[in-house]
Amino acid sequence: MHEFSIVSSLLESCEEIAKGNDADRILVVYVEIGERSGVNPELLQSAFDTFKIGSKCERAELNIAFKKVELTCRSCEAVNEINGVNYTKCPKCQSENVFISRGNEMLLLRLEME
Ligand SMILES: [Zn+2]
Repeated sequence: MHEFSIVSSLLESCEEIAKGNDADRILVVYVEIGERSGVNPELLQSAFDTFKIGSKCERAELNIAFKKVELTCRSCEAVNEINGVNYTKCPKCQSENVFISRGNEMLLLRLEME
């Protein structure tokens, strides 16, 4: 499953960050999921709960924030948050010369550690 590999690399990053900060354990893991990342938050949560056992995240809580798709226009340089499913046109100038500048990925935002 997609979410399992995401969680194992997420936990790896957490371990590394904890090590770099001399932290014994991680309390909260804050992640951001883009609307179009294809990551299912429920599966992510259950994969996290399964894989965290034995790691520095064992008692950590996973905090998931959803991010809407953000579209950047190459014609007028507008950056817009998109509501709905029209990712192909700039809402400002109607140009189709646009790209998705946010919303395709999952990011580790920050950790609370001790
Ligand atoms: Zn535009």
